[in-house]
Amino acid sequence: MAGHKAFDLSGRVAVVTGGNGGIGRGIALGLAEAGASVAILARNEEKNRAVLGELEKLGVKAVAIRLDVTRRSELAPAMEEVERRLGPVDILVNNAGIAIMKGALEVDAASWDRVLETNLNSVFLLSQIAGRSMVKRRSGGKIINIASEYSRFGSPMVPAYSASKGGVVQLTKSMAIELAPHNIQVNAILPGWIWSEMTAPVKEMPLYNEIIQRTPAGRFGEPEELAGAAIFLASKASDFVTGSTVYVDGGYAIR
Ligand code: NDP
Repeated sequence: MAGHKAFDLSGRVAVVTGGNGGIGRGIALGLAEAGASVAILARNEEKNRAVLGELEKLGVKAVAIRLDVTRRSELAPAMEEVERRLGPVDILVNNAGIAIMKGALEVDAASWDRVLETNLNSVFLLSQIAGRSMVKRRSGGKIINIASEYSRFGSPMVPAYSASKGGVVQLTKSMAIELAPHNIQVNAILPGWIWSEMTAPVKEMPLYNEIIQRTPAGRFGEPEELAGAAIFLASKASDFVTGSTVYVDGGYAIR
């Protein structure tokens, strides 16, 4: 691989939940370009196959496993399958996420639960599985959680999402402290507004102009622009970085 060797991920095995589209795809391809073997875990098999093809074209070992991260009993078997097919997991990227646009007075309990189960509980459960394996193997490791601007501030539009993403940052810090003695770093990436299926509807909303005006960079980001931060947090280059939140947001957070 060209570039600084601290960023080289050759011989590493990475899992990216929701790796079949949007930010997850951008990160999965980035980790593969840095040399990692990559497993993508998501529900849509057609999208899984398409990104698997792109990963294989980069010349790395890759697998796509159909997984709904809200199905708790299927998490451990999926991680075991990754281990069987690629080897023990060194890097876990908790990226799968959903947003349901319903205010606190109208959101029903089932929607609330679905958002929390997808965005927060699965992050905890998968991190626990990966963390236990890394500790047992004394291998060290990297856990990268995808947070949000809504980890920081409230939103009347997506309260469940905001609560879940606030939880992700607090879980990141808590696990970072617990796992630091095992040379496992746990960090979050905080994307600003990034074009994806999740944000596509914003283009037609008044919110779009507000975002552009508020973002110093004056634009949305592309999913591929998250890859650099993910490679950094997945690599030896970040061995003394833990519990942190890396902003990739065109400066949105500083206004
Ligand atoms: P997309 O909607 O494009 O992608 C979401 C991904 O998550 C898909 O790959 C989807 O795959 C997967 N996913 C959703 N639910 C599940 C589930 N139950 N089990 C497994 N996989 C699931 O959104 P983004 O790429 O924008 O979002 C990725 C992450 O980034 C999310 O956590 C989001 O909250 C976060 N984020 C996004 C921002 C943005 O501006 N785009 C800003 C800040 C944070 P499938 O449907 O096939 O399962």
